[in-house]
Parts: sequence; structure tokens; C-alpha cells
Amino acid sequence: MAVRHIRLFPDFVLQTPCRPIVRIGPKTSDLLRDLKHTLQASHGVGLAAPQIGISLQAAVINVAKDPRKRFLGGSNHGLAVVINPQIVEARGLERPREGCLSVPDLLANVRRYAWVRVRALNAEGRQWILEVEGFEALAFQHEIDHLQGRLFLDRVANLSTDLYRRQDLQR
Ligand SMILES: [Zn+2]
Repeated sequence: MAVRHIRLFPDFVLQTPCRPIVRIGPKTSDLLRDLKHTLQASHGVGLAAPQIGISLQAAVINVAKDPRKRFLGGSNHGLAVVINPQIVEARGLERPREGCLSVPDLLANVRRYAWVRVRALNAEGRQWILEVEGFEALAFQHEIDHLQGRLFLDRVANLSTDLYRRQDLQR
């Protein structure tokens, strides 16, 4: 089991678009394993390869155990692996409050779609198309953004009213 160090903003790797994975082999399996283990050891619902310093298009998402899933509802695919994911269709706008393992001090209200259809390769390299909704849709969009070198801070509606310090909210 390899739990990797999570890169923090403003690390350059988090702001760099990742390369697609062209050949799925043992190195991909190692990367996916590390992503799963590191996600499991964190309190997050998703983790993208650049967050562990690898600039390749792979991410893992798992909303199953997060309590926010109950409040926000939506789909639940359990532990999902996506390689080279693309959003091919999107509907409905929301303004959820989001955080990120790579930006531990801040939360923000961001613009996201309520429903998206995603095309990706799975861990075996087969194409799959999945439809995600609600909390899971937010998590997918957040991780796909990471693979394009974007952070949730880039999606903040208004920097003066929609950005919060985590410690101020917990007081
Ligand atoms: Zn993140």
C-alpha cells in the first residue's frame, strides 16, 4: 500500500494540464492503486493524479461514504476510476460549496452542473459512459478539472463574497 504525499496549491503540477494515458499497463495499475490508497487515507471524495504529482489523466472518485451524499443526493457508482475522462453533456447549474485536499484552508461557492455525462476509460482500458448526478456529479467535475490543470478556485462565482477560510466557518 502506498499512500502518497498530497501536493498543495500553489504547486505547479496542480496548474498544468495533464497528458492523456495512451497505453494502459503496469504503470497505470500502480498509479491507480496509489490513488485509491491515498484517497482512502484522506477525508476526500476524489483524488486526481496531479494531486500526487503525476501529470496524467487519471482520477478516482468515491462518494459512497460521505455524509454530504445524503444531503445533496444523486447517483452513486461507489469507487469509480476514470482515465482520460471527458464531459460530453451537462445540464442544470448549481452553486455548491466546495473544498479540495490540495487547498486545505479554503472553501468556496462554485459554479457546477447538476448532471453530467462522462466518457472515460476504465481501469481495464475499456470505454465507458456514465451519467452522474447531484453530489457525485460535483465530485466528477472537480476531479476532471484537476486533470485540466484547474482548481475549484478558478470556478468561484465572486471572489469577495464566495470564498471562505475553513477556520472562520468552524468557529
Ligand atoms: Zn481537489
